[in-house]
Amino acid sequence: MNDLIYALATPVGGAIAVVRLSGAGAGALLHTVFTGRGAAREMAYGRVVDETGETLDQAMAAFFPAPRSYTGEDMAELYLHGGQASVRRVLALLGRHARSARPGEFTERAFLAGKLDLAQAEAVMDLINAGAERGAKSALSQLEGGLSRRIAAVEGQLLDALSGLEAAIDYPEELEEDVTSALPHALASAEAELRALIGAGLSGRVLREGARVALLGRPNAGKSSLLNALSGVERAIVTQYAGTTRDVLEETVSMEGVPVTLFDTAGIRAAEDPVERIGVARARSAAERADLLLICFDLGAPLSEEDFALLAETAARPRIAVCNKSDLPALWKPDALADFGLSVMTVSAQTGEGLAALRQAIAASVAPEAESALVTNARHIEALQRAAASVAQACEMAAGAELELVATDLREALNALGEITGRTAAADLIERIFAKFCVGK
Ligand code: GDP
Repeated sequence: MNDLIYALATPVGGAIAVVRLSGAGAGALLHTVFTGRGAAREMAYGRVVDETGETLDQAMAAFFPAPRSYTGEDMAELYLHGGQASVRRVLALLGRHARSARPGEFTERAFLAGKLDLAQAEAVMDLINAGAERGAKSALSQLEGGLSRRIAAVEGQLLDALSGLEAAIDYPEELEEDVTSALPHALASAEAELRALIGAGLSGRVLREGARVALLGRPNAGKSSLLNALSGVERAIVTQYAGTTRDVLEETVSMEGVPVTLFDTAGIRAAEDPVERIGVARARSAAERADLLLICFDLGAPLSEEDFALLAETAARPRIAVCNKSDLPALWKPDALADFGLSVMTVSAQTGEGLAALRQAIAASVAPEAESALVTNARHIEALQRAAASVAQACEMAAGAELELVATDLREALNALGEITGRTAAADLIERIFAKFCVGK
């Protein structure tokens, strides 16, 4: 068993502080510092006492003997009062007997003990970081092994193909024909499954990072007002910060459980002033990266050339027309935009009219399908893409006679898939992944 580590597993300042211990001697150390006695995996009540017999805190504690613990090692958890001074004293006491854990070290040990694979370990971290409800659900399904199972199925197909190939390479007279005739079909089906996972992953990014929604429109259309009005809900998970420029502001909110990052861009128009031109360029680049455009129009001012130019320019993009200021006497009808082939919503940033419907329309437009919740991690998507490329290449080669080359491609594909589950991940990659965890996890 590994050396004994300890860490505070809860944020500082809460009502309860949980301290975790894992490794050789966790039970003995609990016995030394804690007076309560309970059966394995059962809570006991007692006092935490130091070497001089002084009571540092009253606490609950539990002992989890190996292998039925999070890390697979002997573990103990202490539930202390959250007072900072007493927590510090308890940590100091433990520090005289055990080593302070590195970030993610508990989960790393769980991974090394085979309690979870790398994709699941990363899901633990995603779950901690998930801002919106749907992101949390998808991380949970990955933690439960959804992605790992799908990958294992593809690995199985590729391994079968590879072992057939290897036999054909070793005994060309006997087997070659059978193998080469079945191969293209098997590889095509593996590739299709990989492409499906990648497709799911690209929209799964929305759940992890939030959909990027850019507000466009000429100055005074009410973009800033709309940004404020739309983000004025579910403040609890809102993070607000000014973008790197004065011109693009962003705010992440949850819309119907989907995380959405709204960008308010400076008015896009043919700018004369060089400073303004920089703002316009930045607005354009925010718009180019957006998953959805909200094109804002002012019902209280006549439609202009600029409005039509913006409509023409964004024709190929996912977009919603937002006719703002419905509280004012309208100078034109939203129907005027009907011919441009986009959905048209009428709202007032000022009174809030139409905003609930707009939020629903935004969420419906950017929310990925339930299926896509499976792959949300950029590292996984990248590895899937490499695997799919290798399988595609193998597929092409399979028609020819160079079986060795096909086998090489299949091995590369298997390596790429192994990086997701951790089966073939290099030690430094694993270290880098766990270093991103918080201490105590
Ligand atoms: P931006 O330049 O597109 O960001 O527009 P702003 O959000 O700064 O709004 C321009 C002006 O329109 C401000 O004076 C706002 O108070 C006003 N405004 C924005 N939305 C509404 C609305 O729904 N109704 C009315 N009556 N005025 C609005």
